[in-house]
Amino acid sequence: MQKGNIGVTTDNIFPVIKKFLYSDHEIFLREVISNAVDATQKLKTLASVGEYKGELGEMAVRISIDPKEKTLTISDCGIGMTAEEIDKYINQIAFSGAEEFLEKYKNDANAIIGHFGLGFYSTFMVSKQVDIITKSWKDSSEAVKWSCDGSPEYTIEKIEKENRGTDIVLHIDDDNQSFLEESKINDLLKKYCKFLPVPIIFGKKKEWKDSKYQETEEDNQINDTNPAWTKKPVDLTEDDYLKFYKDLYPMSEDPLFHIHLNVDYPFNLTGILYFPKIKNSVEIQKNKIQLYCNQVYVTDSVENIVPDFLTLLHGVIDSPDIPLNVSRSYLQSDSNVKKISSHITKKVGDRLMELFKEDRKKFEEKWNDLKIFIEYGILTEEKFWDKAQKFCLLNNVDGQYYTSDEYKKLITENQTDKDGQLIYLYTSDKDAQNTYINAAKEKGYDVLLMDGQLDVHFVGKLEQLFEKTKFVRVDSDVIDNLIVKKEKEALTLTEEQQESLKKVFTDQLPTIEKTEFKLQLENLGEKSLPIVITQNEFMRRMQEMSAMNPGMNFYGEMPITYSMVINTGHSLVKKIQENKPEENLGEKAKQLIDLALLSNGLLKGEALTNFVKRSIDLID
Ligand code: ADP
Repeated sequence: MQKGNIGVTTDNIFPVIKKFLYSDHEIFLREVISNAVDATQKLKTLASVGEYKGELGEMAVRISIDPKEKTLTISDCGIGMTAEEIDKYINQIAFSGAEEFLEKYKNDANAIIGHFGLGFYSTFMVSKQVDIITKSWKDSSEAVKWSCDGSPEYTIEKIEKENRGTDIVLHIDDDNQSFLEESKINDLLKKYCKFLPVPIIFGKKKEWKDSKYQETEEDNQINDTNPAWTKKPVDLTEDDYLKFYKDLYPMSEDPLFHIHLNVDYPFNLTGILYFPKIKNSVEIQKNKIQLYCNQVYVTDSVENIVPDFLTLLHGVIDSPDIPLNVSRSYLQSDSNVKKISSHITKKVGDRLMELFKEDRKKFEEKWNDLKIFIEYGILTEEKFWDKAQKFCLLNNVDGQYYTSDEYKKLITENQTDKDGQLIYLYTSDKDAQNTYINAAKEKGYDVLLMDGQLDVHFVGKLEQLFEKTKFVRVDSDVIDNLIVKKEKEALTLTEEQQESLKKVFTDQLPTIEKTEFKLQLENLGEKSLPIVITQNEFMRRMQEMSAMNPGMNFYGEMPITYSMVINTGHSLVKKIQENKPEENLGEKAKQLIDLALLSNGLLKGEALTNFVKRSIDLID
């Protein structure tokens, strides 16, 4: 037996590994299995080029637990190592400048392992001793056993080993005994190894027999070595794509459609992305894309790799060009990662365009589900609009869909105001704003439905993107003020008449908490309602945004101000204005105000009860 010291510049790396890597202990398993898979693939390559002439035999990687010995063993039938190779690849590790780096990345095991090429040594996060039992593929090579107990000292000796390949034997330490539990290892294998290209086998399949689970003869293979994304799109049916989705997300509803990514220049990338059906909250749907590197699972938080809006998608991305073991902050600045991100955005745009062109009707049917992605993309990704403007649809209250160009054509003639601004009318609630929608329709105007989760922001974005355009909610002013076509007709009342009319109504204004009413006189014509209540577009938007964004509290604290427009053109208002002393003006004004409040959902509680009583008396 031979002894030696591992070539490190710091005294002892093991306490360091243990001390700094408090999180992510489990990734040791990914690291050793990746090594085993690499060794297997290398041997296959050697065989395919004729350098290795022997039998390949079974090429699986096997994982086993020995509860008595308290060991976890990872065995492969790959290229193995000679004693010299162990010395070169295992014993010599460069470890300079370590302290500083470790301090910086102490919570990021991935970064540390990647930086120092410590894949194999990550096993010491959970082991008090590690043995490598290995026999090289090379003719007449002798099997060796390397052993290390976590000090810089190792031993190496010749042993007997029948088959080519490597067993990594981990003597699990006392703090990490859970890695000897079958269920835990099973879960980890499912997480990291589900799609590795070499069969990963963990014990035997079990079967429910004689009222308990019993082992069968059949190997329990964890992975699918040929997942859908590694195949050519022509070889896959819609069902295959759906089945793969169900494999990844068993609990999810069927997706809307998929995008198969396949790039080999200027970087390698494959994958399948799905547009899921989004239920209520955008946030909880994020982080479902899984990132792989040559079929090795890396992470499911891809926020630095794909643009923010695409984190709403589901599926798999696989790229050998995304460094496996790096820190998150590094990823962000990596130029490959940037290219990948913009490529994916482009692909998604192309695919949506294709779907739109292929079958517009189907696209429209899916619009309600798609809308959130597309709006999110337009809001957050400057470049996305270039493509998206061709398929981003506007939906009106009658259920018709238009592209932005089509819609502009539709409304230009009728909805341009006297200053040449094009006014887009919209509603955020078809039912509650029904009166206003009808008033707009009577004028021949079109009203868009903007009731989505992101529409408050989206409306503002469209105003920036379109020229000379304003979006106004139908209830933000009386219809003639929403699209002002000519100078307003002056009120025919004298100052004095105006003041006394105002006073009648002001005396009857309700007091509602955190709500203010501003009285206004306007001649809206005989056909309009006697009183119209509106809320200023700008203030309302500010308040809606502040509700979503705590930083804008200023607007949230302010009372909600409504305009109460008294229509001096209406016959009832005229009567009040004429001010015949025998009639009870106050009561009439009150009744009109309550009707206006009622149609805006502002009449509640006792005020509502009183209104109902009063109305019944009126019928009497
Ligand atoms: P990396 O995999 O990043 O090179 P590791 O510390 O994980 O770093 O492994 C160091 C080297 O040890 C590998 O590059 C490989 O040459 C060798 N090695 C590790 N595990 C095996 C194995 N199961 N079979 C053959 N060689 C292995």
